[in-house]
Amino acid sequence: MKTNELHNEIRSAVRDLCRQYPDEYWRKIDEARGFPEEFVQELTNAGWLAALIPEEYGGSGLGIMEASIILEEINRAGGNSGACHAQMYTMGTVLRHGSEEQKQKYLPKIACGELRLQSFAVTEPNSGTDTTKLRTAAVRNGDHYVVNGQKVWISRVQHSDLMVLLARTTPLDQVKKKSEGLSVFLVDLRDAIGNGLSVSPIRNMMNHETNELFFDNLKVPAENLIGEEGKGFRYILDGMNAERILIAAECIGDGYWFVDRAKNYASERVVFDRPIGQNQGIQFPIARAYINVEAANLMRYRAAELFDAGEKCGAEANMAKLLAADASWEAANVAVQTYGGFGFAAEFDIERKFRETKLYQVAPISTNLILSFVGEHVLGMPRSF
Ligand SMILES: Cc1cc2nc3c(=O)[nH]c(=O)nc-3n(C[C@H](O)[C@H](O)[C@H](O)COP(=O)(O)OP(=O)(O)OC[C@H]3O[C@@H](n4cnc5c(N)ncnc54)[C@H](O)[C@@H]3O)c2cc1C
Repeated sequence: MKTNELHNEIRSAVRDLCRQYPDEYWRKIDEARGFPEEFVQELTNAGWLAALIPEEYGGSGLGIMEASIILEEINRAGGNSGACHAQMYTMGTVLRHGSEEQKQKYLPKIACGELRLQSFAVTEPNSGTDTTKLRTAAVRNGDHYVVNGQKVWISRVQHSDLMVLLARTTPLDQVKKKSEGLSVFLVDLRDAIGNGLSVSPIRNMMNHETNELFFDNLKVPAENLIGEEGKGFRYILDGMNAERILIAAECIGDGYWFVDRAKNYASERVVFDRPIGQNQGIQFPIARAYINVEAANLMRYRAAELFDAGEKCGAEANMAKLLAADASWEAANVAVQTYGGFGFAAEFDIERKFRETKLYQVAPISTNLILSFVGEHVLGMPRSF
């Protein structure tokens, strides 16, 4: 099948699935601060969340381009991929750096939905963006590690069976480079919660299940170490480009959704005896938002093409994330302005999506950190931190 035909087929199939989960579904979940369980289950059953798992492990072995199209379509249909997107990229750490035994043990079960690997625990309250200063420590003791410390903003823990954890295995003052001495573990949440791991939900701006985690002598079997001890930071960085491209695609989906809604509303809403969209003060910001979403989309395609060709794509993946997050945020603001008072009313869904898309200015990487990456690594300017 030609690439474009495959992409069109994916778009149309995901759209069909999303049609069963209209605005009211997402609105109710948002109001109840619930989890879109039926949606995530159906997406899993249809195999969409296993897009990036190779066929030999029960997935569909698609590329990042196809995976990004799936998430784009969910957000473009008014949904929120944030409830499950990590299932796509978190398993990449196991796939790239896990042993054959770990891959055989976990990937087929993740692919068929028997296990959910939706959580990824890096951020800590004291270190924030300065990841290598994280303090959660894992100390080897015979056939297991003992983990102590704290994490913050760790999403989907309550709806996941497994979690990828980054912890320090060699103290910072004993390593040559601060990026050394960090290790990655696969934590089985079903055993861990209540046995050394406690989870405290954080109420936040949107309906996003995220938590503070407290590790108090949590025992993690040594066989759950992924790759080599001390090399974990590198493994986490390896997954960043995929994450950036997928989040960029979600923002693109959001951006088109806002533009569509704004355009339609502006064409229908009559004030002073004419559609408000006839006024350039309303029409031009929508046109500009559309132009910016389109431009960001080109960078997203470029980054995905490079990624799938196995070429370097750090610059493009980061730029795509920044451009797409900015474009969706601009489109969100324009949509609120176009809807006037109704932009604030829950029943029009603009305010919900506005809150949801704002997240991508800050997480999983903030705009400033992308600017500093490009300043330093692409333009060769001095490191700012
Ligand atoms: C809803 C939500 C879900 C999340 N889910 C997860 C998750 O599942 N797993 C996980 O590990 N993390 C998660 N995060 C954490 C997220 O990745 C961090 O919030 C983000 O990386 C920023 O870290 P911080 O909040 O500690 O901000 P800080 O590091 O305190 O930074 C605050 C602000 O200062 C800016 N800043 C900091 N240093 C510099 C500098 N040198 N130059 C310029 N600007 C700077 C930052 O860009 C940011 O805007 C989530 C966050 C949220 C809000």
